[in-house]
Amino acid sequence: MYLFIHRKDLRTTDMRAFDYLRSKDDAGIHLLILDPALVGGGRLTSHSGRSFIGQAASLLLSYADAGKELHVLYGEPERVTEALLQAHPIEEVVVHDDYTPYARLRDERLRELARKLGRSWTPVADAPLADMTAFPAYARRSGSVPYKVFTPFYRKWNRYIAEHYGPASDIAVDDLATVREIDPAVAAAFALPEPVACALGASSGVEGTAKPSAKLDRFIRERLAAYAYNRDNYAEDATSGLARFMNAGSISVRQAYEATQGLPGAENWLRQLAWRDFFLYQAIYHEDFFRYEHLTDLSPLSDVHFEAWASGSTGIPLIDAAMTQLNRTGELPNRLRMIVAMFLTKNLLCPFTLGEQHFRLHLSDYDNAQNRGGWLWCSSLGYDAAPYFRVMNPVSQSQRYDPDGSYIRRWLPHLAHLSDKEIHRPLGGAIVDLKASRARAIDVYKTIVLAGAGDERRLMGR
Ligand SMILES: Cc1cc2nc3c(=O)[nH]c(=O)nc-3n(C[C@H](O)[C@H](O)[C@H](O)COP(=O)(O)OP(=O)(O)OC[C@H]3O[C@@H](n4cnc5c(N)ncnc54)[C@H](O)[C@@H]3O)c2cc1C
Repeated sequence: MYLFIHRKDLRTTDMRAFDYLRSKDDAGIHLLILDPALVGGGRLTSHSGRSFIGQAASLLLSYADAGKELHVLYGEPERVTEALLQAHPIEEVVVHDDYTPYARLRDERLRELARKLGRSWTPVADAPLADMTAFPAYARRSGSVPYKVFTPFYRKWNRYIAEHYGPASDIAVDDLATVREIDPAVAAAFALPEPVACALGASSGVEGTAKPSAKLDRFIRERLAAYAYNRDNYAEDATSGLARFMNAGSISVRQAYEATQGLPGAENWLRQLAWRDFFLYQAIYHEDFFRYEHLTDLSPLSDVHFEAWASGSTGIPLIDAAMTQLNRTGELPNRLRMIVAMFLTKNLLCPFTLGEQHFRLHLSDYDNAQNRGGWLWCSSLGYDAAPYFRVMNPVSQSQRYDPDGSYIRRWLPHLAHLSDKEIHRPLGGAIVDLKASRARAIDVYKTIVLAGAGDERRLMGR
């Protein structure tokens, strides 16, 4: 018997681990653990938590539709797993790789637990489009000298995909034998607390099992061809909206990739999937990716203006409109993420970690690696970031990407009466002067970034 634990792979088709399990021809317990560390602390009611729970509810429906069993338990993963390993003749624990610091620590403990109890531990790579285990050898980059810059990574990655792409699988949960009953004492000990059970029950059917595929089809039909030209026009709905489904795994990145191949516009969209892989690659191979703030002196920054930014009350119309959309809906187009992140870190001189944390709770498609990658880039920190003197101006960005201000009018109706010319401009009482704060940001970030570069040279010279 095996134990398969779902994590960021909330689907029942095209699962690399299912291919492996099918080859073993054994029966197994399929499990989703709702981990208090991940669904606690207000997360259940946040946009990102609700998105995850909705997709978990869809996963349960997919199992039921296939006539298979998914067990959902609540508790610390090590304790839940240990109880199941003690109660059932499980020989092997199988999971998909997960690359965040929390996930690595958790999996290290699970691996050690399996070893202690004499069971096998089998992690299988699934999330990236390219096989990130084989890619460094292909690129002739060992783990210790990974790519730091996107463009050379992308060139090699593109060639790798062309030569070694591993297609989506036809194997689904229908092809596996799932164990119906688990030990009642374990089920009772790790039963879902009422609020979690309610959230899961209430989400049942909200996402609908077909939703990610339907979204993908619609994107291909209506938006892919013009994606390159329209993706920054944030007032329109011009992108796929698939990130939250790919991040929680309710659609595989391979399915999305294969459906678009050969179609007009696919190349530009693939480049965005490469960014996704680039940040996963950094999470896997760059030791410093998740602890950059500890290697950089951020003491010249402060949280003074953070609340005004977070609540959308800065007096800069585009920033306030974007934060209103984010806080209300959990959605925010990529260009607006860049503009509000640069505004927070540069014009307002707040540490990027505060914005990163706000996005964690508010983005429906929140993903630790992607979010960190975005914030590091915008704040000119990390590898291959925007230069320290790059500060997007929210007024000129608004004039350029949404000349008639329809986005601002939608999210800030009290400004709707303003003319197309006036609507972009800072209001009286705006918390910063854009020109002066830009000049100050360049000075401050020059010092931070150059000191950081010195540190890096020193580290590499060691
Ligand atoms: C400060 C900041 C924070 C971000 N936080 C997240 C996050 O938590 N989760 C997240 O998935 N993305 C994040 N992004 C990246 C990007 O904004 C979103 O992936 C994109 O807006 C999702 O919309 P979509 O699915 O319609 O993407 P599309 O434009 O349709 O792109 C297709 C897919 O490519 C990937 N992709 C697109 N743009 C990027 C990018 N700039 N970086 C990495 N991958 C990309 C996503 O998987 C996306 O679903 C962040 C960007 C910034 C600047």
